[in-house]
Amino acid sequence: MKYFLSCRQNFYTMKYQLAIIGGGPAGYTAAEAAGKAGLSVVLFEKKSLGGVCLNEGCIPTKTLLYSAKVYESAKHANKYAVTVPEASFDLGKIVARKQKVVRKLVLGIKAKLTAHGVNIVTGEATVIDKNTVKCGEETYECENLLLCAGSDTFIPPIPGVEEVDYWTHRDALDNKEVPASLAIVGGGVIGMEFASFFCSLGVKVTVVEMMDEILGGMDKELSAMLRAEYAKKGIKFLLSTKVVGLSKGEEGITVSYENADGAGSVSAEKLLMSVGRRPVMKGLGLENLDLELTERKCIKVDEHLQSSVPGVYVCGDLNGVSLLAHTAVREAEVAVHHIIGKEDKMSYQAIPGVVYTNPEIASVGMSEEALQAKGIAYTALKLPMAYSGRFVAENEGMNGVCKVLAAEDGTVLGASMLGNPASELIIIAGMAIEDGKKVEDWKRYVFPHPTAGEIFREF
Ligand SMILES: Cc1cc2nc3c(=O)[nH]c(=O)nc-3n(C[C@H](O)[C@H](O)[C@H](O)COP(=O)(O)OP(=O)(O)OC[C@H]3O[C@@H](n4cnc5c(N)ncnc54)[C@H](O)[C@@H]3O)c2cc1C
Repeated sequence: MKYFLSCRQNFYTMKYQLAIIGGGPAGYTAAEAAGKAGLSVVLFEKKSLGGVCLNEGCIPTKTLLYSAKVYESAKHANKYAVTVPEASFDLGKIVARKQKVVRKLVLGIKAKLTAHGVNIVTGEATVIDKNTVKCGEETYECENLLLCAGSDTFIPPIPGVEEVDYWTHRDALDNKEVPASLAIVGGGVIGMEFASFFCSLGVKVTVVEMMDEILGGMDKELSAMLRAEYAKKGIKFLLSTKVVGLSKGEEGITVSYENADGAGSVSAEKLLMSVGRRPVMKGLGLENLDLELTERKCIKVDEHLQSSVPGVYVCGDLNGVSLLAHTAVREAEVAVHHIIGKEDKMSYQAIPGVVYTNPEIASVGMSEEALQAKGIAYTALKLPMAYSGRFVAENEGMNGVCKVLAAEDGTVLGASMLGNPASELIIIAGMAIEDGKKVEDWKRYVFPHPTAGEIFREF
């Protein structure tokens, strides 16, 4: 372990070149990169290495969703001329498998960090000043400080919210009993992934969304198509609908709402609140750093993820820019590169957004709405996913669309995809956007055949 001890006022203080608060994707990526580069690193984590992503976010949701997909495939195996006598599932075992996956990945991260000489300290860290962090009784000195404390679920102050038992994503992930019905407040990414999961298990799901479409930020046309698919599967959607009250009802919980048709209510056995997440700005000692904030009251960072205080960096959800694990990872790499003097800077123009519903939906770059708002001329090129032989072979009875938004000279500005496996393919468009490529450039590459990704060569 690489750290130095300094004797100050009879206390021994540990000195590091980099102190990191938060062991999620931002924190652990930075710790590993800095350790590899030979810096002395201390990483503070108050709960579990891996952060929200590994313990209660990306990985657990996808593990549950995969079980749901397998169940659905078994139920509908006859579409592929395969007979499965009677498909069934055990939610307790699905949740146990999820925990096993999480444990394995957390251990993997711990092993990697240890191998790179990172000192992992378990406990809640507080910033004393830009060069000093306190955790428990110990004080740590650092040349650079990286804040990666993440974000937390935002619970809106809806009347009655304190009086009802609601689920956050954490409860939904660990729940072992299948409810008869579930109301979901918020039709964003998290809300829709849980809607998909519980709908697959046969739960009567209602999604209440304040905006006029689910999945704000994704392509509206494709989101509407996905919504139509789920409406066919039985999910009830209430769009442009504001939740005005929550109360205990006969069926469990009653969600009172208002929309253009007037006032109404929906009752369900369980209620999931998923209206969004906010950076963790309290309990970290941020007040001890004179940090400049943005208009949205987030910590301002530059293209190297450095805050207004030199030597203090902020990565991941905490800076409020993107709130995605893959953004956090790239930001962490950029911050470490700046610390070690390696040329690099953060670009946000091609951050993929994916919703792991079935079918998946993904987008990258600019949306049509964003292009129109900026007055940028573009052409929307659209192809059915059925242009890909592999897609047709593996998606019996399913439709899909690939949409590419191109500038007048053919430069790729944005792309969206509805259909499996959109999560794996969207990076093809992401790389084109990041590198300023044109639609015709895809033709120069030899794509493996048959793959769903070949769709990009068809434009
Ligand atoms: C249900 C759900 C599903 C998601 N699915 C996806 C997905 O599919 N893809 C995707 O890209 N993103 C997804 N996300 C978002 C993703 O989890 C976050 O963007 C990502 O975890 C952010 O990483 P981070 O390192 O910034 O913060 P976090 O992962 O939140 O980690 C922050 C860590 O800091 C620790 N910490 C905080 N304060 C202190 C302190 N004072 N001292 C010590 N430790 C502290 C916390 O305990 C935590 O472990 C999902 C989120 C949720 C909730």
